[in-house]
Amino acid sequence: MMDFHDLLGGFVRIHILHHAAEGDVYGQWMIEELARHGYRISPGTLYPMLQAMETRGYLTSRQDSDGRLGRRRKIYTATDLGRKGLATARERLRELTGEVSPKIKTPSETGDDVHGTEDDHRSA
Ligand SMILES: [Zn+2]
Repeated sequence: MMDFHDLLGGFVRIHILHHAAEGDVYGQWMIEELARHGYRISPGTLYPMLQAMETRGYLTSRQDSDGRLGRRRKIYTATDLGRKGLATARERLRELTGEVSPKIKTPSETGDDVHGTEDDHRSA
């Protein structure tokens, strides 16, 4: 599982769509790419996600052989519907970033003397 999976799942799907719109992606590559961006996502989470995105019509897949290992693997690319969804997500993302980011960048604006943290009960 991934931390904050319920919140960040949409980001991961958009990230997948972004790369699948640029070219072929497959599960293991996507796991490494997401890890590079700070998402620790297991095959047990990613593969069902890819499968669900295909079922919903955002991705299409084909079997391809891995030349070095001689294994068959599933290659995904974005469909037209996936590209439309990505375009919409980009607009929403731009708007969300505009609203959310400034508050993250300047925490001092909200006062930095934060007391009463929730960690108290965790000290053992
Ligand atoms: Zn990426």
